[in-house]
Amino acid sequence: MKYPVEHKFAKQWWISLSEACNWKCWYCDFPMKKDIKTADADYLKWFLNILKPVIKDKNIEICVEGGEIGLVDPHILDIFFNSDLDKSYTVTTNGLFMRQDYHNRYKDHIHYILYHVVSDVTDPNVVFEKYKDTDPSIKIDYTIVIHKRNIKYLDEFFDNNKDCIFLPHLMQPRRPGLDFLSIEEFEQIYDILKDKENVYDHFKNRILNIIQHLKEEQSDPTKLKKMRDFCANVYHKPIFDLPNRLIKRCCITIDNCDAADITEENLYKLVNNDVSLFPKTDPICDNCIANFLWRHNPKWMLKYNRDELMNITRSLRRNNYHEVL
Ligand code: SF4
Repeated sequence: MKYPVEHKFAKQWWISLSEACNWKCWYCDFPMKKDIKTADADYLKWFLNILKPVIKDKNIEICVEGGEIGLVDPHILDIFFNSDLDKSYTVTTNGLFMRQDYHNRYKDHIHYILYHVVSDVTDPNVVFEKYKDTDPSIKIDYTIVIHKRNIKYLDEFFDNNKDCIFLPHLMQPRRPGLDFLSIEEFEQIYDILKDKENVYDHFKNRILNIIQHLKEEQSDPTKLKKMRDFCANVYHKPIFDLPNRLIKRCCITIDNCDAADITEENLYKLVNNDVSLFPKTDPICDNCIANFLWRHNPKWMLKYNRDELMNITRSLRRNNYHEVL
């Protein structure tokens, strides 16, 4: 199954409206939070007001989430979705957003929903709600998180849900102390998924990419480190943590990466890829196998995003980050 929006956007800017979530996924950093915060209305209006000129005419996809966005106060959602940012949004949800019928309420402002169907696949017969009658202008993909302990259920799980198209997620270093997948486990996952019609080819290709790079890393660790350091300076997927009024380097995690204050000046640094915004490297990258790590390397950008690469190279040179290239 071909992934329709690939290469469409140069960058994805994520916005977190709240820390509240009705799930407690063991691999996530949100449940670890003590005093749950949410974005307030005046601050959100101020943020949207300074964001608009920064992203005007920029090839940036705006993605919004919580915690769980379905728990966010409707007044806050109205301010966000009815803001005149002149963008159509991507929403990630565990389904509560649709159960609240928000996908219909804001259908004129949403083009893509990534629906996390279950917190963890611990039973291949797990049942979840399926959305077949949504507005055709909104594309919904289904996702699960794959990790060491649920590989054994994947084959039957995907066969039990042939009526849904899946863009699975591989467990990422969202919080410290997670046990990552080994090369052998990636090979096992690939063998299970390679012939599944209801899993995107682009995800299967990525697993082959990961296996190739992790094998190379065994003989030459510098190459993958260089790719991770470059990715850390591409600012491809930052996240705006509005409850804490901070820009975080990467949406892989909301708490365990570098942060900077949300100011107009810092938003321009981000959009101009001014690499003085964050330190050169970030420990969060050390175990990263994210999609855009493979995609957002100089060779790929030279082919698909030359302008952005030139922009980044100038900024890296200006800040003496030559070795990152
Ligand atoms: S290497 Fe991974 S964690 Fe680091 S910035 Fe890139 S995607 Fe984020």
